[in-house]
Amino acid sequence: MQDLEYFKQKLMTRKDDLTKRINAIDQDIKHEDMSSNWTEQATERENDEVLESLGNASEQELLMINHALKRIESGQYFSCSMCGEDIPPSRLELLPFSSYCVNCAGKEHN
Ligand SMILES: [Zn+2]
Repeated sequence: MQDLEYFKQKLMTRKDDLTKRINAIDQDIKHEDMSSNWTEQATERENDEVLESLGNASEQELLMINHALKRIESGQYFSCSMCGEDIPPSRLELLPFSSYCVNCAGKEHN
């Protein structure tokens, strides 16, 4: 039996980090209407775009983590969503939110 609890813990920790990061980014974006100077506003707008894309990447990862947690609940965590083969724990160690085995993840990109 593979260590489901270990991966669940790993995902929960990551989920916590991401949630905090997303909240921090939201705060940053909201706090910026204060400046009176146009140049500063333009600079802040650029910062916002960077922050927003960071936020989007974090939200994407958060979605995948939530998906992985559901797969843990339903006992599917160690099977590939596409072919049903076992996903090796060494892969899950690197990509704990992965739903596919190496073969299928490769195919997806083609
Ligand atoms: Zn597969």
